[in-house]
Amino acid sequence: MYWRKIYFFPEDLLRHMRQYFKSIVIHSDEKGLFYALDLGGTNFRVLRVQLGGKDSGLINQEFTEVSIPPNLMIGTSDALFDYIAAELARFIAQEGQEFELPPGKQRELGFTFSFPVMQTSIASGTLVRWTKGFSIDDAVGLDVVAELTKAMKRQGLDMRVSALVNDTVGTLAGGKYSYKDVAVAVILGTGSNAAYVESAQAIPKWHGDLPKSGEMVINMEWGNFRSSHLPLTEYDHAMDNESLNPGEQIFEKLISGMYLGEIVRRVLLKMAEEAAFFGDIVPPKLKTPFILRTPDMSAMHHDTSSDLILVEKKMKDILEIGNTSLQTRKVVVELCNIVATRGSRLAAAGILGILKKIGRDTVKDGGDEQKTVIAMDGGLFEHYSEYSKCLENTLTELLGEEVSKTISIEHASDGSGLGAALLAASHSPYL
Ligand code: ADP
Ligand code: MG
Repeated sequence: MYWRKIYFFPEDLLRHMRQYFKSIVIHSDEKGLFYALDLGGTNFRVLRVQLGGKDSGLINQEFTEVSIPPNLMIGTSDALFDYIAAELARFIAQEGQEFELPPGKQRELGFTFSFPVMQTSIASGTLVRWTKGFSIDDAVGLDVVAELTKAMKRQGLDMRVSALVNDTVGTLAGGKYSYKDVAVAVILGTGSNAAYVESAQAIPKWHGDLPKSGEMVINMEWGNFRSSHLPLTEYDHAMDNESLNPGEQIFEKLISGMYLGEIVRRVLLKMAEEAAFFGDIVPPKLKTPFILRTPDMSAMHHDTSSDLILVEKKMKDILEIGNTSLQTRKVVVELCNIVATRGSRLAAAGILGILKKIGRDTVKDGGDEQKTVIAMDGGLFEHYSEYSKCLENTLTELLGEEVSKTISIEHASDGSGLGAALLAASHSPYL
């Protein structure tokens, strides 16, 4: 099995470290009203979070989700941030009087920005490069907080960005609020990334003051991991070459939601062209990049009807391929299974790499029983249950039964947004 070869994973991954954060300090006694803006790859979410302090914890959390129009993903920085700020302003305009702030006090926002950033302070950072379908050249190298702040001003919105957070770091912080043993956060959504808690002494690149806790959070940017040992096929190479970011985010392109359906499409196209899988003509729709989305792939994969009626419908509705035989539909499901299984097993191998690096892949003799919680978030992990099941089974297989009992995978729903609000709270000038 190819993933067994990935023994060098931890060190290679660590070469891709982009950011160091001082250890997350969340006391669970933060109090008040905070906002979060979570800009992922497909949608963005605006959250309003009410924190009740030590005894009450999270009192209330409300959110709205807006999809990002595709033209804005490849337009200008101003156009993207104006759109986001306008939605934020709309969210605020709709809120009731109970959320009115006393005069002189500004609303505070944690900004989850799920793209590689060179963090320059808790509330500033320059965009290193775009990933996942985004390509807005004039934003690269700019401080994304300054861009958002300017756009909010243009909307007449009186709001202050208190924290800039990567989604993995947000998920780690949000996860910590519920589970004290969170040591790793993994995002499997449109893209993929991971963060983990590292002993500050184990970070040779860090020359600043050591945090009191002795720990720091590392945003790995693991989506950008690449290695000659990764088992890339001709379909992966072709998809990468034709992507907006060739040569980049190779691991992400094998495991994350933006790409799985597209890989299935490419294999089906080849089967149609070279083996007349769908008869004498190659169905024209099958030639359209990204026409088969991962949610549709996942719906086909999960079709439990004996005659695979949902597969038939998807093939007809999306690819305009009618009259498929049951045999053909079974092959389509098997192909979804192969692509999802490869992705989830590689994601599990990545998690094993982290656990090895932090010494959580063994059971310690004597002493307290060590527990490790992995906070997971992202639409792929949340909705593609064959994928998540396979990921969890693979991790158990890699770690063995005994160690697996000390590791738990928890779905930290909306953890990245909540974490950003918590970090905004813990960096609030008013508290
Ligand atoms: P983002 O990654 O953009 O922050 P999400 O975490 O919500 O946002 O993940 C959205 C992604 O999750 C989609 O792009 C898609 O790839 C994947 N996804 C959403 N729903 C499903 C589903 N039902 N089955 C499989 N994948 C899904
Ligand atoms: Mg996200």
